[in-house]
Amino acid sequence: MPEAIAPPEPLRPISGGRPEQSWLSLLILQASPFCNVNCDYCYLPGRTSRNRMSFETLRAAVNQVFSTDLVSRELTIVWHAGEPLAVPLEWYREAFRIIENTKPSHIQVRHSFQTNATLITEDWCRFFREHRTCIGVSIDGPADLHDLHRRTRSGRGTHAAAMRGVSALQRHGIPVHVISVVTRQALSQPDAIYDFFRDAGLEEVGFNIEEQEGANASSSLTEPGTELVRSFFSRLFERQAADGGKLRIREFENARAHLLMGNGGSAGELLNDQVRPFGILSIDWEGNFATYSPELLGFNFPDLGKFAFGNVHNDNLLAAAQTVKFQKVLNAIQAGVTKCRETCAFFGVCGGGSPGNKYFENGSFDSMETFYCRTSVQIPFEIVLRAIESDRLGAGN
Ligand code: SF4
Repeated sequence: MPEAIAPPEPLRPISGGRPEQSWLSLLILQASPFCNVNCDYCYLPGRTSRNRMSFETLRAAVNQVFSTDLVSRELTIVWHAGEPLAVPLEWYREAFRIIENTKPSHIQVRHSFQTNATLITEDWCRFFREHRTCIGVSIDGPADLHDLHRRTRSGRGTHAAAMRGVSALQRHGIPVHVISVVTRQALSQPDAIYDFFRDAGLEEVGFNIEEQEGANASSSLTEPGTELVRSFFSRLFERQAADGGKLRIREFENARAHLLMGNGGSAGELLNDQVRPFGILSIDWEGNFATYSPELLGFNFPDLGKFAFGNVHNDNLLAAAQTVKFQKVLNAIQAGVTKCRETCAFFGVCGGGSPGNKYFENGSFDSMETFYCRTSVQIPFEIVLRAIESDRLGAGN
């Protein structure tokens, strides 16, 4: 039987599966839980709260991160879990200074924002350019689809404001990638969605099939939607091929990358940041921290209580790995990964999936297949593989 991944002690950058990369691949910081938009599928609790991370908490957080050996050369910080641009630009000027002054000189920090784009101004664009910041925007396609779910608290659609923000980013030459949530209404409109993104000059899109997560306990999509998802992705694939691949689609790019790498093999779980303890670290505005799937932080579990392993003001990051709670979660997640490894043909591609989705869909980390993995991993991979195989057969004739 293959060995389970090593427990997180000692936690060291490894040289086998992640050459030259840090063990910690993503640090997700919540400047504030507040969001100015009230999407009906959002999983974030507390998004009406205007609380903001104090600079003291930020200092404690980055001091802890940089005093471990979790980061070897590079660290990506994602400002997320709330609308990050609802916090004033001046706050980030100081926050970036604090991080720059705290990090060891050999470590490169790259900042990234995941934003609804409605608050982007010329000043924000100048700031993003100055700091070479990566920007992910949330746009669900054309206005009619986007405004069905992405509305303000007073019920107004947000598409026009979001596209104004995207245009400002484009005018400044700032690269943008899109996260697009696919609801039941969107599944029947792959052509309209494809045309919209291509005509808007957007070049990279990831499609998040609407999930049952956290505060979004009931998705508009459930099991019978699987075949609709296959048709949706198949049509996107046809459009992309006919267009010479102008619009890059994350799910197909991931599948192609795995095929090129020889399917990930047993390194699958090392490449899956969500199942590696401290592969992803999420810290909320109060300094509470957790690892594994970012959406787990703050969720209230019947048996574990609030999902957090400590607070940066009081608890050492790595020492938290020795607590009973951490070990219980680690063992359950690893047991789920082992089940995936032993039974799933897609293990090399996904490395054991998302613990968050496993819990929210199956009620346990120690489980395997989910609607999420069928629709976001297996189906896109099958579509890409089938196309490559039929190209090979065609070439052989
Ligand atoms: S595709 Fe699903 S069942 Fe297969 S390894 Fe990934 S999470 Fe596990």
